[in-house]
Amino acid sequence: MKLYPLFVDLSHRAVLVVGGGAVAERKVAALLEAGAQVTVNAPELTPLLRGWVEQGALAHHPEPFREAWLDRVWLVVAATSDRATNALIAELAGLRRLFVNVVDDAQLSSFHVPAVIDRAPLTIAISSGGQAPMLARLLRERLESLLDHSLGALATLAARLRPRIRLRFTQAAARRRFYETLFSGPVATLLRQGREAEARRAAESALADEENTAAGSVVLVGAGPGDPGLLTLRGLRALNGADVILHDRLVSADVLALARRDAERIEVGKQAGRHYVTQQQIHALMLEHARAGRRVVRLKGGDPFVFGRGGEELEFLRAHGIPYEVVPGITAALACAAYAGVPLTHRDHAQSVRLLTAHCQVSHDTLDWAALAQENQTLAVYMGVGELATLQSRLLGHGRAPATPFALVENGSRADQRVVTGTLAQLAGRAAAHAVRSPALLILGEVATLAGSLAWFGAPPLGAGIDDFGEAGMAARVRQPVRQDGVLAALHQA
Ligand code: SAH
Repeated sequence: MKLYPLFVDLSHRAVLVVGGGAVAERKVAALLEAGAQVTVNAPELTPLLRGWVEQGALAHHPEPFREAWLDRVWLVVAATSDRATNALIAELAGLRRLFVNVVDDAQLSSFHVPAVIDRAPLTIAISSGGQAPMLARLLRERLESLLDHSLGALATLAARLRPRIRLRFTQAAARRRFYETLFSGPVATLLRQGREAEARRAAESALADEENTAAGSVVLVGAGPGDPGLLTLRGLRALNGADVILHDRLVSADVLALARRDAERIEVGKQAGRHYVTQQQIHALMLEHARAGRRVVRLKGGDPFVFGRGGEELEFLRAHGIPYEVVPGITAALACAAYAGVPLTHRDHAQSVRLLTAHCQVSHDTLDWAALAQENQTLAVYMGVGELATLQSRLLGHGRAPATPFALVENGSRADQRVVTGTLAQLAGRAAAHAVRSPALLILGEVATLAGSLAWFGAPPLGAGIDDFGEAGMAARVRQPVRQDGVLAALHQA
């Protein structure tokens, strides 16, 4: 069952509460606070309820429940300790199309009362639909401690200024920026310090400030490898403030889901075959949106400065006078190593680590293969899986030991992560046998032996011990691929 959340105006509206115990008391208190005209039906009342009746805040019917009372109320709360009575009230209310809440009975209830964080005029309500009230309560406690009480004053101030803000900033994006400064800048700080008059003055002068026609900007944000938990807080804030998000294909849907709902999302993924956005077009898009006064987030997989062309984009922005910031992200090498249980350096196995991308076409190959082939160092290789065979033969050709272990991490940190392990001599063969696809990161070096023992995330590594089928077996596997894809097709042709 999925509930439709609703905030109801009960001021001067009649509500019937059946029951006069402690639970009824809590319900009545909240209803009175909302300005409802509450009638309590119960033979006995708690002292507090009785006090309210005596003060005239509450009407009281001590006699047995009468169906006719339902005809004049908007809502009903059944809070007796007798399940049959509660069920009867719920049924009668239902027949009249009245919403009824039966205390501690999600099934009989047609409305639920959420756990509430009150920062009036701001209200945050949490409901588990009666399924896990303790969880809702726990969340409420957390939010209570997170949200300053001055939020209410902030909301009130914003409400007062709203008509003028609308006039001053006719563009939605500029308006939102102003609100954000209002809500997170000096005005909010003053309110937190209880300096309301100063806060009001600061807000007024910000509104009068002629310079306030904020210009657009670009934040280059590293989205990390996929697990949204690996996004930085600064990255999250940038996503929350974005008007436009230009993201790569590699950015996971889970990360994108964290961005502001109404931010425009534009995929600029460069994918061979399908649509193709050139680097120049990406530059042009950043410029266009920033010049229109929007806050652009350029969201990249991993870290923007590690094989992400972030440098080129900044050079372009600098040349065009667009203000920018950079928020680093967790690069694939670090994430894949962590999520495969492979430390990149280790006192016994590797004193250095190299991040490299292997473009094995001769024209692009400027790598010092002899240096890369030395032992006791870790190579973290970013690349298409199609490059593995060439990589393997180059390294072997320059003397790296055939027994050097590797861990090939596909979809690192994501739910569908796979880790294939083996030795350098088996690298391309094992990748093909398991139909490893992009994105995949290769960790090659002595440290990779630890993948077998230190793995903690996702499926266990596909290690040689489990499914070593040797060269001949591998060839058979290739003829019956697990997953048909480009790598296998290429292998067939080879
Ligand atoms: N800027 C990115 C790298 C972009 S290059 C970063 O810092 O991570 C793209 C390559 O990164 C892919 O071909 C793959 O080798 C690697 N990669 C990115 N995300 C990955 C992931 N979740 N799992 C494995 N490899 C990944």
